[in-house]
Amino acid sequence: MIAISSISFGEEVEREVLDTLRSGIVAQGPKVKRLEDEFAALVGTRHAVAVNNGTTALIAALQVQDLQPGDEVLTTPFTFVATLNAILEAGATARFADISESDFNLDPAAAAARIGDRTKVLMPVHLYGQSADMGALMPLATTHGLTVVEDAAQAHGATFEGRGAGSFGLGCFSFYATKNLTTAEGGMITTDDDATADRLRVLRNQGMRARYQYEMVGQNYRMTDLQASLALPQMATYMQQVEARRRNAEALRVGLKDVDGLILPAELSGRGHVWHQFTLLLAEDAPISRDELSERLAAKDIGSGIYYPKAVYDYECYREHPRVVIEDTPVATSVASRCLSIPVHAALSAGDVDQIVAAVRGAMEA
Ligand SMILES: *Cc1c(COP(=O)(O)O)cnc(C)c1O
Repeated sequence: MIAISSISFGEEVEREVLDTLRSGIVAQGPKVKRLEDEFAALVGTRHAVAVNNGTTALIAALQVQDLQPGDEVLTTPFTFVATLNAILEAGATARFADISESDFNLDPAAAAARIGDRTKVLMPVHLYGQSADMGALMPLATTHGLTVVEDAAQAHGATFEGRGAGSFGLGCFSFYATKNLTTAEGGMITTDDDATADRLRVLRNQGMRARYQYEMVGQNYRMTDLQASLALPQMATYMQQVEARRRNAEALRVGLKDVDGLILPAELSGRGHVWHQFTLLLAEDAPISRDELSERLAAKDIGSGIYYPKAVYDYECYREHPRVVIEDTPVATSVASRCLSIPVHAALSAGDVDQIVAAVRGAMEA
């Protein structure tokens, strides 16, 4: 079976974890600090603040914005549910603008049309490892006085015109097990702003500046040194892992070129794609459906994944939610019914890639 993701840790990780166990410092300590420093360098920000997961990173980034009831966060409907859950947990109202089929991310023109008096935060998601169009979204945010919180959970090391995804506003990353970089569960917030970084550090530790000196209502959002031990050895070779993903993506693009009914994902000009997912789109007139393609691949022992099957607001619990504003997003709705991700991870061999190409081609011919 060629799985959609592969999780394996080398001896360096085993040694680092063992070292942490023996050190006696297992909760937040010096290894979390080292991971923060190395991660800030990867993204290109002055600060990185580690937290216990990616959802928490989004919640904390919103909590330091002092949002008032009724304040809105404008985001994409084509995302993992954590994006929406974080907005609601932070007490804000969620509104959605449609995506572009070219990069699966927020369409700046659609976003512009949905900014209103209550909009306070613009929250693009850098889906599948490719940055949203920050060249258009940042001026939009500036014009309307919006804070930018980037959901970069899938985009560690991605770039837009040479700048790191997560370095434009507050960057929120996930280190969940299947992400490009992992601590099993974990997250990180990146920022250039000293005061924001300081607030986040206090917030994550019960709002406590020094022992029993409480400055704000806080939480326990801390990462542990045990978690950081998993990621530290990965940091050293991370961009090599990305290079392997990029090679696999290119081989898939070459191998699947000109298949009738298939639209291939592309790295847009000026963007450094880290290929968290390689996501096919079935054309409207494709000979088979997305679900048929998935079943035919499974029959050939090729794993695939649907990320995501519906617009994120299109569930009863959100449709009935008083703080979820639902307006049409036709591109997202259509893409959600036609997308299928196939394996692109760094553990694939050249033979695996050939097998995937042959299986997809065979499935689409029938
Ligand atoms: C994984 C993910 C998250 C949440 O991260 P967790 O670490 O699982 O909490 C948020 N947004 C997106 C787009 C994700 O893919």
